[in-house]
This record gives sequence, structure tokens and C-alpha cells, in this order.
Amino acid sequence: MELDIVVHSISEKIGRHKPSLKWSFSFAHAKCDRSCTKNCKYRRFIRCIFCLVVLEINFFGTRGSRHVSGGPFDYGRDTSCVGVREVGSSIWTIFDLGSGLNNFAEKLSGNVVADFLLSHYHFDHLQGLPFFYPMDRSDSKVRIFAPNIGGDPLGQLFAPPFFPVSPFAFRGDISKSYIEDGQEIELLSGGSVEAFEVAHTDTEFGYRLTLGGRRICYVPDHQEPYGEMALRGKVLEMIDGCDLLIHDAQYNASDFATKAHWGHSTYDFAAELAEQGSVKRLALFHHDPSRNDDEINRELKHLKENHPDLEICAAHQGEDLFI
Ligand SMILES: [Zn+2]
Ligand SMILES: [Zn+2]
Repeated sequence: MELDIVVHSISEKIGRHKPSLKWSFSFAHAKCDRSCTKNCKYRRFIRCIFCLVVLEINFFGTRGSRHVSGGPFDYGRDTSCVGVREVGSSIWTIFDLGSGLNNFAEKLSGNVVADFLLSHYHFDHLQGLPFFYPMDRSDSKVRIFAPNIGGDPLGQLFAPPFFPVSPFAFRGDISKSYIEDGQEIELLSGGSVEAFEVAHTDTEFGYRLTLGGRRICYVPDHQEPYGEMALRGKVLEMIDGCDLLIHDAQYNASDFATKAHWGHSTYDFAAELAEQGSVKRLALFHHDPSRNDDEINRELKHLKENHPDLEICAAHQGEDLFI
């Protein structure tokens, strides 16, 4: 039965009927019950071809606080923006709209169909939105979700005298919704996302995305507890067992000694949290603008030595992850 599915899928893929790659993945993956390990090696191999890679994660902007120039800054020059889609799909889920959003625009060949999930209103997470030209097409559809802090912050910010044109006046089907802590959203991609409060200097939501049988948690700016402070909110519960945690790692221990109250996490805290939450992979994110590539490499090496059982990478602008 499984072999029939694969042969059918492969023969379709090589051109008799020319279905999309997404169709092939979706068809085969939908038929897989993940009981691979109970069966023979041959069957395990066949099934896992389609189970191994389901999601594509694009780091369009990985820097925290501000864009950087000069270098070397291969880990990222642009501010927070991460795109996720099922392999072969053209429907995106975008976390945050920093200057990296322009790199997403350049990846698109035409219109855009996407859900945009804003974590909070700090400029490094929002400054890309008014310049996102793919929304100015009649065949584009974008839904923007942002924390409800009262009023209409997106409408106020992208209007004169702060900016001459509102992105909501673009020709595409563009909408905005202000959401609450704990709210679940059905995505255009067919997946779902849940918002949860994250401790920071202002109201912030992290997001847990469920798509294609995978779970990704996005926690870009996170106040590491210090002094008598306890871990706030449902962060541990939300990241529990997720396939990928994208987490604030702006500071090292020396930074934190003077900036503990600035709303961010250290490398060590990100790794400890990931271990407590039994996450499968941690991507260090929101790199400090003062930190160059060699310094990030040193921090990463040190972290891997201290957490040998945790799979850790530093999010690298322009490089994609597949899970
Ligand atoms: Zn930030
Ligand atoms: Zn922030």
C-alpha cells in the first residue's frame, strides 16, 4: 500500500500529469501514520522521505534593536523577520515585520499571500511594513495580526506625519486584527497559531505555530528573570516539546550585568529554557547589533559545549532551515 502511494506520487511528480511539488508532499505525508519504526527498513525509508522535511523556515532578518552596516555581519544585518511555509507552498506565515521584510519581498516573484504575526510594536519589529511593495497588487492578500494594546497603533503609526501612505491603502486585500493573549488563529496556510504573553519592556506576544505536523515557537524579545523575578506567563508550557524554538539571545553574561532590565535574554538562558522545555532544536535570534560573526561563533561554541544534548544553531540571515 505504502509503495503504491510512493510510486504513484513519484510517477506523478516526474511529469505524467505534472502536479505541484506541494501536491506530492501533501498526498504522501497525509497517508503517513508515522508508524515507520514498527515496520521493515524498506518501508521506513520510503515513508520517511516524505516525513523528514515538511517546513521551510527563512530567516529574512535576525538582528535585534537596529539594522547594522559594515561587518562582518553574515549572521544578519536586518531586523526581525522570519518566514515559514510548507515545502512547495506559496502561502506564508511571517513572524515580525522588521527591515528583513524587504528580503521577503525580494524572494517573491509576484503577489503575496500571507499571514503577518507581529510580536510587539518596537520599531525593529515593524519598520519593514510601510515599504513592503508586494501588497500593492490586486492579487495579493495579507492579514496582519498584532497585540491588542488599545487604540489603533498600526493605523496611527503609518499615517502622516510619520509616513505618507498607509500600507492599508495598497491595492491588495490587506486587513489588520488586534488579538488577545491566548487567542488562536486559523492561518491561510491551513495551520494554526496561538498567541501567548512574553515578558518584555512593553506588551509582547510570542507565537506557537502548528503546521504540517510540526510545531515552531517564536519568542523574539524575552526578559530573562533576574533578582527576585520569576519566569512570567506560559512560555514553558507553550514551547514544550516543540520542533524548533526561535528565541532571543541578544546578550552574553557581561552584557547582562549592566543591561538586565532592558528586556532581553542571554545565550545561557535561551539554552536552559530550551532544555527545560525539551525542544528539539534551538535557533538563537535577535543578535545584538554590537556583536560580529566571530563573537557569535564563540558564544555558539561555548553554548554547545555546555549543552551537548541540545541541537543549537545561531539564526543566519539568508540561510534556510528545513524541519
Ligand atoms: Zn526587538
Ligand atoms: Zn522589543
